[in-house]
Amino acid sequence: MPISPSEIKWVDERTLRPWDWLYLPALWDGLSTTVRHMFSRKVTIEFPEQRPSIPPHYKGVHRLNRDEQGRVRCVACYLCATACPAHCIDIVAAPSPWPDREKYPELFVIDELRCIYCGMCEEACPVDAIELTTLYDLTGFSREEMLFDKEKLLAVYDYTVAKGSDPIRTHRGVLGPASEIASQQPAPLPNT
Ligand code: SF4
Ligand code: SF4
Repeated sequence: MPISPSEIKWVDERTLRPWDWLYLPALWDGLSTTVRHMFSRKVTIEFPEQRPSIPPHYKGVHRLNRDEQGRVRCVACYLCATACPAHCIDIVAAPSPWPDREKYPELFVIDELRCIYCGMCEEACPVDAIELTTLYDLTGFSREEMLFDKEKLLAVYDYTVAKGSDPIRTHRGVLGPASEIASQQPAPLPNT
């Protein structure tokens, strides 16, 4: 919808006064702002020496959760990829090697650079297989490094479980055999 002319406020360019040409008023303004901030309440921290306190519902790097046997929980239903507004999840399903499910993800890749961290994938997953973690400082030197494949996403699960920072937070898992763990405790780390 076009903006009504009555809502437009035109601002005239300020004309410099003679003493403005000396830059002293501007210098004074800048210094006084600096001094004011030196004594005001600090809202920033000295990262990375200081680490921010991240709330548990923070949406950071993804992980693929494991089930009680250390297998990937995902049953390759594509619901997360369908729900993803950024189209950054690629899955290739294959017949499951395990008898308790039909399919499993042979390939599972998330483009962490394309992701907008909305959490829709986490919401959509019927078996609590995909979650966002509180990890916020993962970086890479190339776009390829930021394509997280299944192994990397499982490694994020292992890392966050070992660190104890991210308990499993999705608990809707009643639709599939891989979701039968009712406990809030994360599954133990697998040996392999
Ligand atoms: S957090 Fe949102 S954008 Fe990122 S993969 Fe999940 S659904 Fe897609
Ligand atoms: S919604 Fe869950 S089970 Fe389905 S493909 Fe995504 S991660 Fe796997």
